Amino acid sequence: MPAMGIQEILEVLKRAQEIDREIHQICEKISEVPETLHHLTEAFESERARLAQLEAKLKEAQLKQKQREGELSEKEALIRKYDSQLSQVKTNKEYSAIQQEMASLKADSSILEDQILSLLEGMDLVQEEVSQERERLAQVEKESLEKKKQLTEQGETLKASLATLNAKRAEIVSGVSPEARELYDKIIEKKEGLAIVPVEGEACGACRMEIRPQLLNEIKLKEALVVCENCSRILYLD
Ligand SMILES: [Zn+2]
Repeated sequence: MPAMGIQEILEVLKRAQEIDREIHQICEKISEVPETLHHLTEAFESERARLAQLEAKLKEAQLKQKQREGELSEKEALIRKYDSQLSQVKTNKEYSAIQQEMASLKADSSILEDQILSLLEGMDLVQEEVSQERERLAQVEKESLEKKKQLTEQGETLKASLATLNAKRAEIVSGVSPEARELYDKIIEKKEGLAIVPVEGEACGACRMEIRPQLLNEIKLKEALVVCENCSRILYLD
């Protein structure tokens, strides 16, 4: 195969660059996948933490309620005991002392009953929140699993496209001299998918730096690949 002329090399590199830009975009998409997965996990964990918090709150209220119920039944037992003693007392003084004690116990019981009632009301609200949060968590989990599956599939597709593009690119540049290929590869890697640019006016089409007349002549002569003195990209003139 005869060696390629500069014009031909430039044409091949332009085609390679189109593929390289696609490759670059695909690589970017692939690299975003882990971060997206991380965000999904974070969202799920934060819902789960919220549910745990609500459940702890509910448990605390249940304990408190149980405690109050215990105190209430102690007071009620005492009231019953005093009540049965009333019929056996001998003196008025004793009688009124027991009655006073019973009144005080009844007042305490009434406060406890109020407390229990308000605890129960509060628990109903928290229970409602717990139910809602459980539903939300299940929803987030479902969505997260679906999204993860989707991302994994997408990743596989992207990797397959990448392999195809890499093969296509290798074939396209196979006729280009190793030196020209090396130069191009070095630039495309550093310059994120833009290695070969047209001269626009008398300036570099990428960095807009004005090109010296001598360099402009070299580009026109097409005897060698010419790079921009500012951004190092390969320049061509159509
Ligand atoms: Zn430039």
